Amino acid sequence: MNIIVQKYGGTSVGNIPKIKSVADRILKAKSSGAAMVVVVSAMGHTTDRLVNLARAITRKPSRREMDMLLSTGEQISIALLSLAIQERGAKAISLTGLQSGIVTDANYSMAKIKSVKTDSIVSQLEKDHVVIVAGFQGVSNGFEITTLGRGGSDTTASALAVALQARCCEIYTDVEGVYTTDPNLVPEAKKLHYISYEEMVELAGAGAQVLHPRSVEIAMKFGVPIAVRPSYSDAPGTVVMEAAKLENVVITGVTGNKNIAKVAIRGIPDRPGVAAQIFSALGSQGINIRLIIQSIAADGLNDISLVVSREFVKQAAEVLEGQRRSLKAKEIVCHDKLAEVSIVGSGIASTPGVAARMFKILAKQKINIDLISSSEVRITCVIDEKRTPEAIRALHQEFRLEKLQRGLARK
Ligand code: ASP
Ligand code: MG
Repeated sequence: MNIIVQKYGGTSVGNIPKIKSVADRILKAKSSGAAMVVVVSAMGHTTDRLVNLARAITRKPSRREMDMLLSTGEQISIALLSLAIQERGAKAISLTGLQSGIVTDANYSMAKIKSVKTDSIVSQLEKDHVVIVAGFQGVSNGFEITTLGRGGSDTTASALAVALQARCCEIYTDVEGVYTTDPNLVPEAKKLHYISYEEMVELAGAGAQVLHPRSVEIAMKFGVPIAVRPSYSDAPGTVVMEAAKLENVVITGVTGNKNIAKVAIRGIPDRPGVAAQIFSALGSQGINIRLIIQSIAADGLNDISLVVSREFVKQAAEVLEGQRRSLKAKEIVCHDKLAEVSIVGSGIASTPGVAARMFKILAKQKINIDLISSSEVRITCVIDEKRTPEAIRALHQEFRLEKLQRGLARK
């Protein structure tokens, strides 16, 4: 079957006129003969509103009930979109995560998709229905409703594209595609025609909001290209694909992430098993750690610093306080007025001196670097949160990203 998976984000289905225009767009793609599977997010700010309703009741909502609550947002938009398509004389059916066979683990609010049982979607496609799937939700083996983490509808779409062996996965959004940096911050930011999976995973993880990082990891694993496109025009957007098919460039993007905090435990005894004990305690609480730095021991004592998303900072500090007591360590220090700035590019590992250039640019702005981390395709500096916009602007300018042109590799 010739299947196209499309996904429409919350702003693209934010009101009834927009839902109607999405219906037109879907039917236009269908008229080329494709079988259409469409994933949608909740309308506009629905999910935020639902979160606020729960917050008005409790500061510590149970994660199970949050998933029960948040999953309702997508059920509104799938039903409305299905009605809009039916109104246009075509066949459509909306399906929840459970009905579409999206099976996840039982980790509420950040569940991972384990498998997709495609039978029911395929049988609806065979009956010529447009199949509209609720994004962001799944069901555990115990028939519990789960959600995939904020922004998770992208992941629903790429998992479906993989499971259905779709021709492509198109993510429709309210921007032109993926940019070299946030165009609201740097007006010269350039839209990229192509980006590699690896770069996109890093950009998404480093704070670029355009795609959910898991969605890119899944597409990368199975080699399905993702097209990120505007839902308001026919512009081609950005294609996320294999690095081997793309021209190599040193840097493709700069990004900032203010949603981080540092928690440090100081004066821990320097002996085998201590780190294992601390990180088992953090891991058992489901705390995701972005970065770990252990400094050189002095006088038999060590410091360990962690960077976590701000949502985890209280929990991480509580766990470390327990560890401090049991290990008789000195103190816990929290710092949340920090941000990460990252440069990302497939040529970073193979080009000497990129890190030095980044540090020099920050030094020229008199921006102090607190922590540094890097991967094959990314270098990240933790800096004072207030300096983030300046840092991004300076890096974008010095690496001349406004001139970046990256095409397909020549054979
Ligand atoms: N509605 C969910 C959210 O706002 C999922 C998504 O939009 O992808 O995070
Ligand atoms: Mg999104």
